[in-house]
Amino acid sequence: MVKKLTVNIVGAGLAGSECAWQLASRNIAVNLYEMRDENRKTFAHQTQDCAELVCSNSLRCHDVTSAIGLLHEEMRILNSLIIESAIKSRVPAGNALAVDRKNFSNYIKEKLLATNNVKIIRKEIEELPLNSDEIWIIATGPLTSDKLSNSILRATNQQHLSFFDAIAPIIYKDSIDFNYAWMQSRYDKGDGKDYINCPLTKDQYYQLVDDLLNAKKTEFKEWEKDTPYFDGCLPVEEMARRGRDVLRYGPLKPIGLTNQQFPINHELRKPYAVIQLRQDNKLGTLYNIVGFQTKLKYGEQKEIFAKILGLQNAEFARYGGIHRNIFINSPQLLDCNLRFKKYPNIFFTGQVTGVEGYVESAAMGLICAIFCYSDIINAKISLPSCKTAIGALLNYITLGSNGVDFQPMNVNFGLFETLKLNKKIAKKDRIVAYSDRAIKEMQIWQKNNMKFFQK
Ligand SMILES: Cc1cc2nc3c(=O)[nH]c(=O)nc-3n(C[C@H](O)[C@H](O)[C@H](O)COP(=O)(O)OP(=O)(O)OC[C@H]3O[C@@H](n4cnc5c(N)ncnc54)[C@H](O)[C@@H]3O)c2cc1C
Repeated sequence: MVKKLTVNIVGAGLAGSECAWQLASRNIAVNLYEMRDENRKTFAHQTQDCAELVCSNSLRCHDVTSAIGLLHEEMRILNSLIIESAIKSRVPAGNALAVDRKNFSNYIKEKLLATNNVKIIRKEIEELPLNSDEIWIIATGPLTSDKLSNSILRATNQQHLSFFDAIAPIIYKDSIDFNYAWMQSRYDKGDGKDYINCPLTKDQYYQLVDDLLNAKKTEFKEWEKDTPYFDGCLPVEEMARRGRDVLRYGPLKPIGLTNQQFPINHELRKPYAVIQLRQDNKLGTLYNIVGFQTKLKYGEQKEIFAKILGLQNAEFARYGGIHRNIFINSPQLLDCNLRFKKYPNIFFTGQVTGVEGYVESAAMGLICAIFCYSDIINAKISLPSCKTAIGALLNYITLGSNGVDFQPMNVNFGLFETLKLNKKIAKKDRIVAYSDRAIKEMQIWQKNNMKFFQK
């Protein structure tokens, strides 16, 4: 029996758009509130598009034997719009699922509007709707507006948790000098030529490290000073500060790359370090610098990157930058269906719940919609088990760390229920076993809960 027909979703980002799709395709009307419009953007969002990818254009590894690729597959099984759109707008990037960000967002918006169940309303929701008897889903992400953040703070009676995240610069391909740079994927994966690579000699590498350490950075405000970085997305200068070789063993690692245009024995043929750029749009005119999120001042970025062979005349479509992200203490505040315990007609989803990453956020949007739908049809749905990627993430944000030192998390096999094996097997085979088990579990969960999937 249908209890409430319209669901209000706040935020048309990765989580909100997926959530809207899942509800709308179950014939539920959705008011999708988005504060961005022609005039209003955020620090990281540059458009008013649905599910804008604010930094990298990659949804990371698409291979099911990685935890993130497995999450892609589970979401595909559950009819994810984000994954469907990513596959439709894919650009070459080896085994990563990278997209043309404009096509990706346009496809999502068109599909949402084509359901005739989604109304996109350009409006900031300033207060948590505590007195509403309608269903609300808060999917406002790491850059939740200040007014709503303060309202959440008051309603939850605790300090916001937060961390710093950063974005990497984007360069026009035609400004790259291919007398030095070359096209190649690491170990020739994918099409073999998916990335642009810029070589560094030993001297140039350590010069870059010194430049990163000495350059002027954006200063933090007083109240931001105790905020930690998210370890999975450290600014390059922070990596340089942690050790002079950290970058060379991290995003600048040279293994699996050879610059064939230089003769054998030339120091640039097997460079000491390599900066990689990944295609950012379908046309192939824009490339982002992989792993080069930074808080260097814009002038410093231009000057320092111009010392890199291949980027001497680089023109920037966007400079890198840094911003504080907020998330709530979900294990304390939310029940296992992502409902706000104090006000169960309000759900939270996406990155604000303490998952990290585009795909993880969208996955939580997807599962939140299914839970919300189960409330609407007044039927109980079982939780996906911790043998699945979605179940493992959900478990982490609602129960996992018991609220003690709760920190945002990417999906990883460490969150999964341990797989008991009779004999010792190689790590590679163990991961395949985890992945096979997860896909079977997800299919069974869907089959056992068929009434939540019928349109
Ligand atoms: C600087 C930065 C760089 C990042 N880089 C990466 C990366 O490279 N790879 C990756 O996987 N993840 C990255 N992330 C994380 C990424 O933003 C999130 O993983 C993902 O976008 C979160 O999805 P979401 O739907 O929860 O939030 P978002 O996609 O941010 O969507 C939230 C939406 O809510 C809207 N909104 C906020 N407040 C209100 C309000 N009061 N009323 C109405 N609308 C509101 C916002 O405008 C936004 O559209 C980055 C995050 C930041 C901040």
